[in-house]
Amino acid sequence: MPFPIEPPRMGEPWLLTPGPLSTSYAVKAAMLTDWGSWDADFRDMTAQMRAMLVDLLGPGGEAYTCVPMQGSGSYCVEAMLGTLVPRDGHALVLANGAYGQRAARQMAQMGRACTVLDKGDYLPPRGAEVTALLAADPTITHVVAIHCETSSGILNPLAEIAKATERAGRRLLIDSMSAFGAVPVMPSEIAFDAVVSSANKCIEGVPGFGFVLAGREVLAAAQGRAHSVSLDVHAQWAELERSGQWRYTPPTHAVAAFLQALHEHADEGGVAARGARYAANRNRLVGGMRQQGFETLLADEWLSPVITTFFCPADPAFAFADFYDRMKARGFILYPGKLTVVDSFRVGTIGRFDTTVIDQVLTATAQSLHDMGVASAAPPAAALAERAKFLSEVST
Ligand SMILES: *Cc1c(COP(=O)(O)O)cnc(C)c1O
Repeated sequence: MPFPIEPPRMGEPWLLTPGPLSTSYAVKAAMLTDWGSWDADFRDMTAQMRAMLVDLLGPGGEAYTCVPMQGSGSYCVEAMLGTLVPRDGHALVLANGAYGQRAARQMAQMGRACTVLDKGDYLPPRGAEVTALLAADPTITHVVAIHCETSSGILNPLAEIAKATERAGRRLLIDSMSAFGAVPVMPSEIAFDAVVSSANKCIEGVPGFGFVLAGREVLAAAQGRAHSVSLDVHAQWAELERSGQWRYTPPTHAVAAFLQALHEHADEGGVAARGARYAANRNRLVGGMRQQGFETLLADEWLSPVITTFFCPADPAFAFADFYDRMKARGFILYPGKLTVVDSFRVGTIGRFDTTVIDQVLTATAQSLHDMGVASAAPPAAALAERAKFLSEVST
């Protein structure tokens, strides 16, 4: 089915952000009904949602179950780690940005053993490094990988990380928050115990909850392990299986919206089509921005279809806050950068839009630069040195 173009949005800016993101009218309209959390209609919605999410895993997905959890994505990551890493377990967290750092912090706060491979702002953790670290420390039971590290937009090499983990006989837990639904996570391709994502990213729902897709056997063995009553994936699963209900108040409206979003995802053609639309958005964006003189932090091979980091121009007439306001006035919400060394900003390419919107983004950036009196969007020398560092490290 072709991607449906909706009429112009009256004054509502496009969110070029990695979630919450721009959603369809039908997703928003699905929130206009009130549902009783205990009622059979809502239980059916929960059951349908769980089944549709398992289906996204493709062949081999039958061995997994879906457990939705209230809260934002971080709550669900914490629930996954606390439930699936045994109290006497030991996790190797592969960090190259804020989300890997957060997972490590969650492990520390829970009092679980944790070793961090810290690659800095954006360098990818490689399979060979994982192999070496696991060989050096036989007490490590689990590897925690971030699929797309949204801080920089890098798509981490999940396949080689999974292979290294499986070869060493350890278990893999994946934070695919910002990639799931657009980048495949398939049990037929990689071995993993669980993957976690949330409603307001590539499935294009609204915020309010996330979900853990975990191997049934792995989850069954995790009873009583959680550090927390609320963030216990096993207990939530047990209640869903027993009564069809969530423990504690479910985000009913967000679930209704998400179910609509899942149907739209299927109508569009599933993970492959969603990923292709986002990749086309990204390609159009990156090509157009480069034509205007902007440079990306990462080499093409490491760019995700989700979000891209651009260096701020060196031109003294450029100030990000001013650029942001001008882009917002033209109908686009940008995302600030997160690099520690040089100034940058990010542009998300996920959400309910296609390349026709990206073309408008490119016109808006050119006009904004012109109005600010920025003659060149070329980054400063320090930014290019950062990128040279990236290129030399990833090629070794
Ligand atoms: C969005 C995101 C999360 C969760 O963030 P919340 O703000 O708690 O929803 C976790 N990991 C990654 C990689 C993300 O992109």
